[in-house]
Order: sequence, then structure tokens, then C-alpha cells
Amino acid sequence: MIPYGKHHIDRADIQAVIDVLENQFLTQGQQVPAFERALADYCTAKYAVAVNSGTSALHIACLSLGVGPDDSVWTSPLSFVASANCARYCGADVDFVDIDPVSRNICIQALAIKLQQAKASNSLPKALVVVHYAGLSCDMQGIRELTQPLGIALIEDASHALGGSYQQKPVGSCEYSDACVMSFHPVKSITSAEGGAVLTNSSELERKLRLFASHGITREPSQMQGKSDGLWYYQQVELGYNYRLSDLHAALGLSQLKKLTGFVKARKEKARRYTQAFQDLAIELPVESEMAESAWHLYAIALREHNRSEIFSRLQEAGIGVNVHYIPIHLQPYYQKLGFRPGDFPNAEGFYQRALTLPLYPDLTADNQQQVIDAVISILR
Ligand SMILES: *Cc1c(COP(=O)(O)O)cnc(C)c1O
Repeated sequence: MIPYGKHHIDRADIQAVIDVLENQFLTQGQQVPAFERALADYCTAKYAVAVNSGTSALHIACLSLGVGPDDSVWTSPLSFVASANCARYCGADVDFVDIDPVSRNICIQALAIKLQQAKASNSLPKALVVVHYAGLSCDMQGIRELTQPLGIALIEDASHALGGSYQQKPVGSCEYSDACVMSFHPVKSITSAEGGAVLTNSSELERKLRLFASHGITREPSQMQGKSDGLWYYQQVELGYNYRLSDLHAALGLSQLKKLTGFVKARKEKARRYTQAFQDLAIELPVESEMAESAWHLYAIALREHNRSEIFSRLQEAGIGVNVHYIPIHLQPYYQKLGFRPGDFPNAEGFYQRALTLPLYPDLTADNQQQVIDAVISILR
């Protein structure tokens, strides 16, 4: 079976992890700060705080921006559940803004209307988590222009988009956001096995992120209440978590980061090959955009005339590991228990009904991709 996504690990990655194993620190050594520095530099952000998953990164981003039980957080229904769950961890309510079916990202017009209504009823969200679906950045400038005047914090869930760009700047630069979250799960642009990070340009936010990622404990006398008791002394000043990344994971992430540009280039070439091959089929293809270069995390098509379940099974039978991204979050039983219903976000639901993700990853061989192309064309014709 040709999988829909797959990591690429080489000898240098393996050696980087072995080197850590042979050294003194398995965690809280020098690999995590080195990875954070390299990631922040790549993204041209001031700070990066590495943690043990993208989900943890979303959680501490919300906490650090002050999301709490009396708040609500809005996000896209067309995402992995973690984009919404981060608000629930903080005790906040979740609501969604429907997608634009072409970009598959949050629809700016729908956002503008929903914000107007929320302003009128005094129920504006504390934060908005936008998702760069499949690696294509949202229109961050347009979104910031809507949220900033209303005092709404803006978080990018860029789990798909590391290595992509927006207005010529790397995704993660936080030019138009308070914080940008990355994931290093093996199917993403680079991997640390498990891992994630929050990027930001705010030193105050960075300080809070570090507190929440490590028990709420500080060793900085300037951040303590009262005087330090001595060199051994620390204080717990918040209720934080142990979300730290280990040095083993960071070493792998750092080694992978050196290959990121090549990974994204390979993904883009393969994506363009699909797009060329499928021009004459009755399906919707992912679009490219003038303002953003996708990181091509996924190549998702939407069927027009065919039955998705049937096509899904036939492709799987042909050895093609297709997938579906995503079951709209609000249709999950957990979210339906909170009051969401089918029909609430018709564009996300309509896309889901017709969506199919085809294999796309740096090591997908030309032969294997041809096999996918041939199977898709013969099954859809
Ligand atoms: C992968 C992913 C996450 C969560 O990342 P983990 O590192 O697996 O916790 C969050 N949001 C989106 C959109 C993702 O694709």
C-alpha cells in the first residue's frame, strides 16, 4: 500500500539521535535550545518554544494568551480536533467559522459577518485559531485587520504549513499573529517523532509559554513573589504542565530542519504533477495562491460526480492509501454533545462528503505516483 504520508529519515538524523544518547543529557540539555533557535531563525520569528506535541503547543498558546473558562475561541471546522480541543482544555467554549470551499481555509466573509453579530451581542471570542489547511496559509493580513480592532488574539495552527510562505515571508514569522503553532508528527513537514512548537515575537508571551510548558515553575528571581531563598530556589507561580520536548526529539527535529526546504520542494513538484495529470477530470483540485506558497502537507481532491465511499474503497483495493481530511470537528460526538448539529457549517460538511487525500510525501517515487495517477484516472473515468 502506498501511504498518504510518510516521514523521511536519513543517516544524519539517526546519528544526531545517537549522539544525544552518548552524551550527558537526554532532556533539558543543549538540543532543545538549539532546535528552538534554528526554528525561530527559519521562520524569522523572535522566539520559538518547543514542546512535546502540536497539541500541547496549541494548549499553552491559548493559556498564555489568557483564554479561560469565561471565554470562547473560534476555529475552522475543517481541521484536526486539536485545533478546537485546546480551547476546551482551558475551560473555554468553542465555536466555528465555516470554510471557503476553494482555499478550504476559514472564509473571511463568514468571519466578518460572525464577528459583527458577536460584537452586537457582546459575545466576541477571546481568540481565533486559524488553520492553514493542507499547508496553504490563510489570508493573515485580512484576518488580522478584522480581529485586531476587536482585541481578539490570533493564533495560527500551522501544523500543515511549516516550510510554506505568505506574502514572501515564511509561515511562522508571526507578522500578523500573536502566536504560530507547529507540529512535528511524522506526517508533517519535518518530524521529531512527536513534538511541536509555538513561535512568537512577544517576549512576554514567550515567558508565559515557557512557564506553562514546565509546571509553571520559574528560577528567575525577577519573576518570583518576594525574594529568592538562594541559588537552589524556584517558585511555582502558575499551574503549568510537563510539556517539555526531550533532547532526543529535539536532535531529530534539528537534523530534519536542515532538509525542510528540500522536502517542501519535492512535495510541491509532486503536487504539480498531480494537478497537471488531473486537469480533465470532474474533480476539484487544490488551488495555488498569489499571496501564499503552500507547504503541500496534503494533496486533497474533492469529487464532483462520484460516490466518495466507492472511490475510496476502489483506490484502497488498488493499493493506494487514500485518506480523508477532515471529518468536520463539530460533527464529532463530543462536539455534538455541546450542541453542534449537522448543517451548522455547510461548506466544511460539503467538502468532507466529497474529499479524498492522495499520497504525497518527499519520498513518493515517480513510479508510485504514476501508479496513483493511473488508478485515479481509470477509476474516475
Ligand atoms: C497534526 C495536527 C495537530 C496536532 O499535532 P500533534 O503534534 O499530533 O499533537 C494540530 N492541528 C492540526 C491541523 C494538525 O494537522
